[in-house]
Amino acid sequence: MRTESEDRDVIVIGGGVVGCAIAHELASDHEVLILEKGQVASGATALAAGIIGLTNVYDDVPTLAGYVASFFEAFDGTGDFQYTKRARVGLVRPEDESRARREAKEKAEQGVKATYLNTPALREKYPRFDTSEIVGAVEYGARPGEGWLDPYTFAVTLKREAEAAGVEFRTGTVVTDIDVADGAVTGVKTESGTIRAPTVVVASGWRTPGLLSDLMTLPVRPYQTQCIVLKPERRLNGDVPMGWVSGEHIYFRPEANGHLLVGGWSFAIDDPVAASSDASEEFRQHVATVIPDVFDGMDRAKFVNGWAGVDAATPDQRPIVDASDEGPEGLIVATGFHGRGVMTSPAAARAVRSLLTDEDAPFSLEPFSLDRFDSRSPDFEFRSISDH
Ligand SMILES: Cc1cc2nc3c(=O)[nH]c(=O)nc-3n(C[C@H](O)[C@H](O)[C@H](O)COP(=O)(O)OP(=O)(O)OC[C@H]3O[C@@H](n4cnc5c(N)ncnc54)[C@H](O)[C@@H]3O)c2cc1C
Repeated sequence: MRTESEDRDVIVIGGGVVGCAIAHELASDHEVLILEKGQVASGATALAAGIIGLTNVYDDVPTLAGYVASFFEAFDGTGDFQYTKRARVGLVRPEDESRARREAKEKAEQGVKATYLNTPALREKYPRFDTSEIVGAVEYGARPGEGWLDPYTFAVTLKREAEAAGVEFRTGTVVTDIDVADGAVTGVKTESGTIRAPTVVVASGWRTPGLLSDLMTLPVRPYQTQCIVLKPERRLNGDVPMGWVSGEHIYFRPEANGHLLVGGWSFAIDDPVAASSDASEEFRQHVATVIPDVFDGMDRAKFVNGWAGVDAATPDQRPIVDASDEGPEGLIVATGFHGRGVMTSPAAARAVRSLLTDEDAPFSLEPFSLDRFDSRSPDFEFRSISDH
């Protein structure tokens, strides 16, 4: 292992899905070193539900959504990685019906493949839903940007490809500081020495603001969110869509083995290090109440496992991927993925290329800019994304 006075083109701090995607993107024409304090994908990444649901998230930047969707389609079948396209439905309680019908109409008018399914239509198309407590659903039809993947397999496949193209992943290495001289980044300090590079990309998840605290302030705060896997009495088959239950802070997707993954229950937290990695009893109870109401045959579903993870939130639920003047030259920040880091990682990586090389990205970087926020305070009101 090299430790003293190494030189690289780019150092990436963090081997989550975002760091892996950046390494993959830059591998062909840069000498890249990834420094990861634990193992690759050992942070929020491996805990993610793997839902890719671009509708509602990047509708206002269709070129960005299109770029991501094409990336997943093209990457499908690389190594062990698979991307499964699937429709997504927002299940509607009676009190939400008129709002949901309006939403479907407005989306369809904007050219988004959205349909309101009334009770008979929902029952006919998706017979596994129990329609006694729901009146219909807004359906976002299967299209390239709607589907799921296994986040761990995705990250390690990106890593393998990046390694094959020359990127070094150094795990078990904590970056303790970023070196700056004359207003420009010169490298990083680790517990075992200094490594020099003119560009440092900080993709360290919720730990990013702490690592940068001497250099700049970011409107980013940690939050916790949870997942539970249920084994239904009758396995789910291929016609079950992904979706969410309006007003309940719950989303779901079928698993390849016929189980149901249910996620949600997101809250800002002050002490991420002390946060439990188990699904809470409250979330388990909530899932046990809501899911049998909306799915047939779930009354006696078995709890398979559950977990909680910490990710980084921003005020508008979109990440910061920027080389802002507020930081030293050569510093690129990629954080605040707010529950959507897996689905946003290809675009974040392409944005980093553009910031580094001045090559135009095929989409505007404006939605990722730090300047879009009026304040840098991390004390903003946290907004959950579990309801869509
Ligand atoms: C329960 C749950 C469900 C989710 N579901 C989805 C979903 O369905 N779809 C979706 O798109 N997103 C989902 N997400 C969000 C997604 O997981 C994150 O947005 C994404 O993983 C963020 O990736 P990252 O690389 O920024 O962070 P991380 O995966 O947290 O990686 C950051 C890495 O940086 C390393 N690091 C930190 N500090 C240092 C340091 N000083 N030196 C070296 N290394 C350091 C950490 O060890 C870590 O491995 C979910 C998240 C959770 C918790």
